[in-house]
Formats: sequence, structure tokens, C-alpha cells
Amino acid sequence: MNTLIRNGTVVTALENKRADVLIEGERIAEVRAGIPEASADKVIDATGMYVIPGGIDVHTHLDMPFGGSQSSDDFETGTRAAAFGGTTSIVDFAIQARGTRMRDALDTWWKKAEGRACIDYGLHMIVTDLGASGLEDMDEMVDEGVASFKLFMAYPNVLMVDDATIFKALARTAKNGALICMHAENGSVIDVIIARALAEGKTAPIYHALTRPVRAESEAVHRAIALAEIAGAPVYIVHLSSEDALNEVREARDRGVPAFAETCPQYLLLSIEELERPNFEGAKYVFTPPLRPKKHLLKLWDGLRNDHLQVVSTDHCPFCFEDQKSLGKDDFTKIPNGGPGIENRLQLIHHHGVNSGKLSLNRFVELTSTTPARIFGMYPKKGEIAPGSDADLVVWDPSAVHTISAQTHHMRVDYSMFEGFECRGNARTVLSRGEVIVDGGRFLGKPGRGQYLKRTARGGAWK
Ligand SMILES: [Zn+2]
Repeated sequence: MNTLIRNGTVVTALENKRADVLIEGERIAEVRAGIPEASADKVIDATGMYVIPGGIDVHTHLDMPFGGSQSSDDFETGTRAAAFGGTTSIVDFAIQARGTRMRDALDTWWKKAEGRACIDYGLHMIVTDLGASGLEDMDEMVDEGVASFKLFMAYPNVLMVDDATIFKALARTAKNGALICMHAENGSVIDVIIARALAEGKTAPIYHALTRPVRAESEAVHRAIALAEIAGAPVYIVHLSSEDALNEVREARDRGVPAFAETCPQYLLLSIEELERPNFEGAKYVFTPPLRPKKHLLKLWDGLRNDHLQVVSTDHCPFCFEDQKSLGKDDFTKIPNGGPGIENRLQLIHHHGVNSGKLSLNRFVELTSTTPARIFGMYPKKGEIAPGSDADLVVWDPSAVHTISAQTHHMRVDYSMFEGFECRGNARTVLSRGEVIVDGGRFLGKPGRGQYLKRTARGGAWK
């Protein structure tokens, strides 16, 4: 089956041009003006629309176990919500349990996704323990298309690994070409501050933010980059939240170090005051790193514009307010950490980035699709509009006005962090490998149609 998208403006990371896009089967066959309608079985009119590469969200947590509970979106509900917002690929996280093999975690996460994923998905591996065979296991994971690993410098006794482990893993990736993703916060120090706060009876949600200082983030970013430099490996900082941390990345990049970082819509648009909402509603904004004072927000936008930050992901990790966030009513440390956002990333970054003049349309595409594809070994299969690439395409209506609300969103969670935010620009028609899966607010895809993305190592822009 051939599909022709006609009369749109094709927007890539590099250029905007009036062109038609011909899709043959699952791939893009041709991109040029004036492709005859007769060459297609199905024609999509994109007059007045942008045609952009499908969004790629490289930081999601679907069906993630957390303290006897689960993040509230599974691979079906989460990827369907993603599709509504114009995201056609995700990279989620498999979690190695301490004392077990990475292979077990990979099998477990494949099972979670199988029969459910509506869009294509890759997996990073969260390494909690290198054990006797961990380094060989990493090579094995790379062969399976798990081209990136996440390590935690936070959450002692749960996920945190020590500097020796971090260094060994980094050194291994210098050889096997994978990329280490770092949750950079000094967890040992934060735990001491938390214990002090609890001892003083400080239990409200706001103390989640007040016990995780900005310097605990920037110190860890500095250390992560230093360890990567010693190991001769690149490093990628996940969910960077503050100016101080950004300065560490910028300083390293200015010296030519292959350090990369992402931020998320919540750090660009929300600030610490949200955690002071009455009636425990601050818990809706409890995730790590925490929201920061307002002065950090513009600095992060500057970082996106100047390429000190390369990617916008969501860290989508939803927990319902009513029966999950409430676990921490009397103790902020019991509030499940995470917030929903997989559906709204493109809407928010287009509106607050492009419409407000902070980002060009091309930079918007680069941050939300093309660079994530490159860094995480999916390019040019994903993140590009060119012959041979997967036909993951979004017909984007730049003038559609959409008000974000839990009443209308498709994520399986009972609140929105962006409730009432009005955005101009939204996905109208979404194609995944040539198949229309969302059109005019209707979902047309099937659970289980999403395929596992075998990603390649050394996909990134480093040597
Ligand atoms: Zn995360």
C-alpha cells in the first residue's frame, strides 16, 4: 500500500520545504514537490500543515514496579497516549534487580511490551549491580540492541551504584560503543538531609524539593563527566533540572568532551511553588530531580537553544493522585516519585518554544526527534524524513488550539501536571511505519503492532 502526503511543509532538523512525501509500505520512498496522486492508494492532504518526523521520547517508565505498586500506564495505554501527542517511538527502561542477570530484566520488559505496544519501542538497561559477569552482560545487551545503560548516583540501597561501578561501566562502553545515561544527584548526601528533615517533623511534599539541593545535582553531574573523561567514554545526563548542572555540561562541552544532556517539559515550565499546593496536591509534582526556583527555567531554554542541552524527553512515570501519591500523605518520602507527560511533550515544546520565539521549528524537530534518534542509535531509520527512513510521520497542525486536561488526555492517570495549559499546535494525523494510527483525535492503531527497536552502539555524534 502506498500513501501520499500532499501539499504540506516538510520540516526536518535542517530545513523547511514545500514537498510531498510518498510512502511505500512502511518506508518513505520519495520526498519532493509534485509527486503525482496516481502513484498512491491513499492521499492525505496536508495543506497548511507541517509534516514532521514522529517524536522520539527516550525517557519513559511504563509498567514500572515501585514499592509494591506500578506506574499507572502500561505499554498499551502509555504508547497510545504518546501517539495522540505525535510521539511514534519511545525508549523505556528495563531494571536489573540486584543479584540477577540483565538478560532476566530484558526478558521481563519484552513481555511487558509484547502484545501491548502501539508504537515502536527500545529499551535502556538500568544497571544496579555488576556482579561477577556484569561487564560481559553489558556486551550481550549491546548485541540485543540495548545500546544504552542507566546508572543511578541517587537512591542509596535501592538503585544507587558507587563510583567504582560507574567507572567500570563507563570504561566498558568506551570499548563496546554503548552510552551511559546518568541520574546525577548525590544520593548519600540527600539521604542525610532527608533524615534530618523527617526528624524535625517536616513531612509535607515541599520537603521533597527542599531536601534535594541544586548543588547535589551539579556535584553529581560534575563527577559523572569527570569519571567519563577518565574512562574515555561519552556520557548522557538524564532529566537535567538546574542552571548549576547545566553549567557543568556546558563547561565540559566547551572543552570538547562528549557530554550530552536532556531536560523535560516540567523543568522548563513548572517551578518549586507547585509543591506547596494545598490539600496534598503538591504530591502531584513529586519527582526527581525536583522542580527548581523560577530563575532556572529561562536558563534551561537558553541551554536548548545553544545546544548545551540536546534532547527533550519526558521522564513519563505516572502515579495516580487518589490511590498512589496518597501513600505519602504523612511522609513525603513515601510519595511515589514520578509524573505523567508522554502525551504532551510536542504540544508544550512547540507552543512554549516555537510560538514564543525561543526555538526555531527545526530546532524543535531536532530536540524531540532527530537528535534522540542519533544519540540512541536509531538514525536514520527514525528521526528523519528521507527515502529509506521509516514512515513515522506527523501531520502537525500549527494553528490547532488544545487545552491540556486530565478530563481529555489519554494517559491512564487522574491528573495532569499541565492542567489548563493552552497550546497552539497539535498532531492531526500520526503515521507509524506507514500506518495511520491517529487521525483527528481518533486512535486507529492496534495494541501489539509496535516493534522492538534494536538500536546500534556508537550511534551518537562522538568518536
Ligand atoms: Zn526516569
